[in-house]
Amino acid sequence: MLYSQVAGQEEIKTSLIKSIDNNQVSHCYLFEGPEGMGKFELALIFAQSLFCLNFHKDPCNECKNCIKINSFNHPDLHIINEDGGGIKREDIDELINSIYKKPYEAERKVYIIKDAHLMTLQAANTFLKTLEEPPGDTVMILLTVNSSLLLPTIVSRCQELKFRNVSKETIKLYLKDFDDEKVELAANYSKGILNKAINIIQGKDDILKKREEIIKIFDRIISSDSEIIYELENYFEEQKDNIDSIIEIMIMWIRDIMFVNNNIGHLVINKDCIELLKIHEKKMKADSDIIEFMQNISDNIKSNVNYKMAIDNMILKIQEDFK
Ligand SMILES: [Zn+2]
Repeated sequence: MLYSQVAGQEEIKTSLIKSIDNNQVSHCYLFEGPEGMGKFELALIFAQSLFCLNFHKDPCNECKNCIKINSFNHPDLHIINEDGGGIKREDIDELINSIYKKPYEAERKVYIIKDAHLMTLQAANTFLKTLEEPPGDTVMILLTVNSSLLLPTIVSRCQELKFRNVSKETIKLYLKDFDDEKVELAANYSKGILNKAINIIQGKDDILKKREEIIKIFDRIISSDSEIIYELENYFEEQKDNIDSIIEIMIMWIRDIMFVNNNIGHLVINKDCIELLKIHEKKMKADSDIIEFMQNISDNIKSNVNYKMAIDNMILKIQEDFK
C-alpha cells in the first residue's frame, strides 16, 4: 500500500512519516474522525511502514514484511475488533497476553483497535493499565468516530490525530478516472467523506435516489397550488428524521437554479438535470432570498419550533418565490 491510496489527511501522513524518520514513534495513537475517512487504511499503511525493511516516504511493497502485510498475513500485526462488533474484557485479556511476548518476526508488534469506543468499561479499565506501562516494542493505533466516547484517561495517553473532511477538489482528483458528471455529484453529496463519494459513484449509497425524490417534490410544489401542503403532509411527517438532508438537497438545487440564472453553469452540481433547472429558473423571483429562508427553517426545526408549521411555511415560501 501507499500513502496516496488514502485521499487527503496530508498533515497526518506527514506527521506519521516524520515520526518514523526521526525515530519518534509513539506507543499509542488515536485516529479520530467520521466513518469512511480512511482511518483503518491509514493505520494499515502506517503499520506497514513500521514493519517495512526499506521504508522511504512509502512502504516498499517488496520486502517480506510488506508482502505479508499486504496479504493480511503478518504475525506481528494484530487487528482487534475487526468486525466492529464490540470489545469485551476477554478481547483485551488476549491482547495483553500477546503484548508482553516478543514479536514473532519483526522488531515490534502493532495493534490496530477498530471502533475503540466500543470497549466495555471493564475492558477499558484493563486496557488502561497496559497503556500506563506499554512494552517498548509495541505500537497501538486506536480508531474511533468520537474520542469523547473513550475514557479521558485513555485519550490522554495517546497521540491524538484528527481526520478532517477532504476538500471537493481532493475527492475529484482521487476519482478522476470516473465519469465527470458522476464525480461532480459524488464530490458534492459526500460531504468530504471519500468512501461515501466512492459508494455514491458505485451506486451503493442511496443519497442520489433521495436527491431524485426531492427534486420531484420540489417540482410538484412549484407546479401546484397551496393544496399541496395537505398532499405532502404525510410525506414530511414520515421524513421528520431526514429533514436536514432534504432541506440541504433543496438548497443545493436552488443554488443550481441561481447559477443557471447567472450563466455560471460550470458551477452547477446537478448537471444531469439541467433542462429542469432551466424551467425552474424561469419561474424564480428576481430578488429571491429563499436560500437564507430555507437555512432559517432548518435552524428553527433544530431548535424545536413547531415542525408542521415550519414545513408549511417552507412550502408556501417556495411557491411564492417560484411562480
Ligand atoms: Zn517493505
